[in-house]
Formats: sequence, C-alpha cells, structure tokens
Amino acid sequence: MVDPRSTLAACGVFRYSVPVLIAETFTSLQGEGTLLGVPSFFIRTSGCNLRCSWCDTPYTSWTPEGRRRSVAELVDEAGRAGIRHIVITGGEPLLQREIGALTRALKAEGFHITVETAGTVAPDFICDLLSLSPKTANSDPEGRWRSRHQRIRGDFGPLKNLLKRFSEVQLKFVVRDGGDLPEILDLLALLPRVEPESVVLMPEGRTAQEVVARAGAVWRLCLEHGFRYTPRLHVDLFGGRRGV
Ligand code: SF4
Repeated sequence: MVDPRSTLAACGVFRYSVPVLIAETFTSLQGEGTLLGVPSFFIRTSGCNLRCSWCDTPYTSWTPEGRRRSVAELVDEAGRAGIRHIVITGGEPLLQREIGALTRALKAEGFHITVETAGTVAPDFICDLLSLSPKTANSDPEGRWRSRHQRIRGDFGPLKNLLKRFSEVQLKFVVRDGGDLPEILDLLALLPRVEPESVVLMPEGRTAQEVVARAGAVWRLCLEHGFRYTPRLHVDLFGGRRGV
C-alpha cells in the first residue's frame, strides 16, 4: 500500500502538522452520482496526486490552496450545518493523514458519509458510500505531470483493495465519447465484480454547453451497457463557481 503521506509530500502540499488541509466547506445538493440531489455538507480537502487535464477543482490539484483545520472543528461545523449527508471530496481526500480519524468521528455523530476518491491510494478509513472515480486516458495532461499522472492512475492495486473492503460503491467515469468505452470495459474486467448499475458515466465538461454536447453519446453508452447516467447538476446550474 502506498503511504499517503509520502504521496502527498511528493506533490509538495503535505505539512506534517496539518490535521486536515481543507480547500472549502459548504452546503449544497449532491450534483453527481447515485445520491444526486441529496442535500449534503461538503468537506473538500486540498492536495492531489493526479493532475487531470480537465480538473474542475484546480485549486486542490494544480495550484493547491487551503488551510489547516482540526477534525474536531470539521465535525463541529458539520453538526451546525444540520444535514445528515456528508461528502468528503477533494482533491484526493485519501491523501490526508487524518482521513481515518475524520471519517470515524463523523460516523460517531451519526452522519451518512460519502467519500469521493480516484482510488489511487487505500488508507484506513470508513464510509457509507465509496464513490470511486478512476481516471482514464482522457484525463492525461500535457507537460511535466504527464508521466507521473499516467503511472499513478494506471496502478490499479489500491482500487482493487478498496473494492474488496467496501460494499456500497459507485464507480464513476468521466466520459468524452464512445472512444473511452474500451478502456472502461478493460478496467472493469480487471476489477472485482461491480454491478453495471453501480457503474456511473458522466459527460466531461466544465460548462453546461460542454456537458450537453457530450450527453447524448454518454446516454447511449449507458443504455447499451446497463450503466447509470449522471448529469452534472452543479455545472448545469453554476458552471465553474466554487462553494456550491
Ligand atoms: S483526481 Fe480529481 S482533484 Fe485530482 S486532478 Fe483529477 S479531477 Fe482534479
């Protein structure tokens, strides 16, 4: 298993004294996946070991920013939000040293926890829904990050580990067109069995126009393969605005 601390340190955003590095917290509706539309309190960590070309939160990856917040402070804020569903997202939340402590503390307070991750590391933590979003070749950036990004996203060991440990899982793929399908099918063939309705396809796009332009092709792939389609509610409503 990759030590998440060493991975985050390699990305230049780890500080040993940081309890959890947080880019933002906010209340919104879940905009993607099987819990689409559910009111949720979002905890967005900062720092990522990938550099997707189309990353919609570059302030957690390409130019990571945030501030150090304790687990107790985050649990307290979640409680004051008065919402049962918590979404821990990023960035890559599984790189945070205190992810286990944070998820256990939230669970002890009775929250439903979704963890959204690319599945490139597999530390100890708990959640009610694991939202895995493996990255395919359509995410590869140009430039100096390209080979590191490809190496990390292409190591499926952590992904297999996570799939064995969690039963409530969705596997979410960002799709440009039908050309992405062979890579997705190849990956699914490598993994422990995932039911087709737990495979979620989402059109790539950072604007509503881009999402609409790709929606038809993604819709067809879902129908042909029994996968689930998810819109991108926050992109439709708010484009690239933060904190919504
Ligand atoms: S894994 Fe997520 S946060 Fe990291 S670069 Fe890709 S889209 Fe951005």
